[in-house]
Amino acid sequence: MNFYILTLFPEMVMDGLNTSIIGRAAEAGLLRLEAVNIRDYSANKHHKVDDYPYGGGAGMLMQAQPVYDAYQAVLGRIGRKPRCIYVTPQGRTFSQKDAKRFAKESDLVFLCGHYEGIDERVLEEIVTDYVSIGDYVLTGGELPAMVMVDAISRMVPGVLGNQESGSAESFEGSLLEYPQYSRPEEWRGRRVPEVLLSGHHKNIEAWRRQQSILRTRERRPDLLAQAELTDKEREWLKEGMGKRQGLAEKDK
Ligand code: SAM
Repeated sequence: MNFYILTLFPEMVMDGLNTSIIGRAAEAGLLRLEAVNIRDYSANKHHKVDDYPYGGGAGMLMQAQPVYDAYQAVLGRIGRKPRCIYVTPQGRTFSQKDAKRFAKESDLVFLCGHYEGIDERVLEEIVTDYVSIGDYVLTGGELPAMVMVDAISRMVPGVLGNQESGSAESFEGSLLEYPQYSRPEEWRGRRVPEVLLSGHHKNIEAWRRQQSILRTRERRPDLLAQAELTDKEREWLKEGMGKRQGLAEKDK
């Protein structure tokens, strides 16, 4: 999968992404990451890329021409019109579902704004998706693009050592992941739940499922409405989940 990140700060993007799991995946050829410096495409002799907004107002705006030419250079290499994501606080909020969906593309272009944003006309010409990482305003689109590239890359087959770890995580079936423990069995007087030491896989699976539901209700009750729960689990929820120890084996 090829990522092209149109930015005024290519080092920031590449330094951030070329580490750990994503860096290793790029090295192994599973991903290709390329930060395209928009400033290299400025037609201005001083390599200027921004100007005052018409109508007045605070700050500067990235101009259409360098952004368009940087995009065209990428287009020329890909040979067809790719999906082009403008990272913007005005977009819909990025989710794990988007990460999975975007991971099916062979090429993805990310456009990072800076200053007060980008001239609307070039956005109308090239952008296919307006996507935000949350309801707050950052100084630039580099961090949002890195967040999305990271989340999407994890969904590309082979990037995670064990594909299991990508499929049993938070947001699968609209539930958060269960709590996890590693060695030692006891730390500062806190013991690992006995069931996890039992070696009884069915019980472990049932305990994890219950913990997922409990945790989702506690931390993200908004997700539960869309969660894929069995009738028994929904009943359990209604009865006052958490007061009982959990679903009895016969209930499942
Ligand atoms: N004036 C713009 C507005 O009010 O919508 C905000 C511009 S912001 C200071 C500069 C750039 O940072 C944006 O063009 C966008 O690329 C990026 N950005 C800021 N916050 C973001 C967010 N929550 N999600 C995605 N991108 C964001």
